[in-house]
Amino acid sequence: MNKTNDYTLTIIVPIYNEEDNMAALEERLSAYLKQALVPACVLFVNDGSKDDSFSRMKEICGRRADFFYCNLAKNGGLSAAMKAGIDAACSPLVGYIDADLQTAPEDFNLLLPYTEEYELVMGIRANRQDSFFKNLQSKIANGFRRMMTHDKATDTGCPLKIMHTDYAQRIPFFTGMHRFLPALIDMVGGKMKEIPVRHFPRVAGVSKYHLWNRLVSPFVDCFAYRWMRKRYINYQIDGTNL
Ligand code: UDP
Ligand code: MG
Repeated sequence: MNKTNDYTLTIIVPIYNEEDNMAALEERLSAYLKQALVPACVLFVNDGSKDDSFSRMKEICGRRADFFYCNLAKNGGLSAAMKAGIDAACSPLVGYIDADLQTAPEDFNLLLPYTEEYELVMGIRANRQDSFFKNLQSKIANGFRRMMTHDKATDTGCPLKIMHTDYAQRIPFFTGMHRFLPALIDMVGGKMKEIPVRHFPRVAGVSKYHLWNRLVSPFVDCFAYRWMRKRYINYQIDGTNL
């Protein structure tokens, strides 16, 4: 048990070398917490940043109630940061937003009403503000993944999601799993809903993902998912005297 137990929603923000986004994160997220539909807190997960992100995050958490951090010993990638955040969360819901604020924290309020009925509620980036080349890669990857996993997700990479914490803690994790959340939630028996959200250009810091880690690894992961789905153990207990 930790302090996130006092909230309904823990918003996980993975941070890897995002020093130039920390001030905007403090301002935007604290403004959102005041208007969130449920009691919500922020959990920064520092994924081994080599810049000034971690000291800035500690300062923010020192002066703001409802802001917490978790510092990973070394860089492990977005999936590792998400898993660390999910494992630490004691609130019934976990949210996820990227540090570059390409999606708006206020749009969590568009997702929240659906969390009663759905175990994963995620955005679809309307009018996506990325380069033609990045959008094209994303379209190809989404199409192939959908065909392989039948996950019915239009935009699995959308960095605005809310999950039921118990489901999020149950799904198998691996490097690259952040692209398979809809497929994995489906595998453990959860329901998924997509809602259009706003999208903005990255204004500070740089993207950490490129052609190789956006297309090649996810391609291989699709086969791993199909194997896992076939072999996954979903047992139900019919009685015990424990
Ligand atoms: N990130 C992370 N660890 C990494 C790489 C990225 O925690 O090793 C974080 C990063 O700080 C950001 C999010 O994951 O909050 C998504 O990264 P990015 O915006 O670079 O990816 P893109 O949106 O370009 O795919
Ligand atoms: Mg980004």
